[in-house]
This record gives sequence, structure tokens and C-alpha cells, in this order.
Amino acid sequence: MRDLITIACTVCKNRNYTSTKNKRKHPDRVEFKKYCRFCKKHTPHKETR
Ligand SMILES: [Zn+2]
Repeated sequence: MRDLITIACTVCKNRNYTSTKNKRKHPDRVEFKKYCRFCKKHTPHKETR
């Protein structure tokens, strides 16, 4: 029950990461703080579809 998700930087909108998550445990879009190599700093990253 793990689905592939894409994680995009909320500042520059680049899709920097892919991950998997359990959609039963986390039905809402999750947000991570990750390093964005386009912004060259840590920014909030959100799950996209
Ligand atoms: Zn960015």
C-alpha cells in the first residue's frame, strides 16, 4: 500500500524528489523541509500528483 509521490519545492516549483508514502496513514498532502538545489537552501517541499 505504498504509492509513489513527487515532492516539489514550494518556492521555485521544481520537482526535486520522489518518494513513497502510505496514503492510508497520510491521506493529506505532506510537507517536508528539504534542500533545494535550485534555491540553494532548505525550503518547504510539498507533495504533488
Ligand atoms: Zn526551490
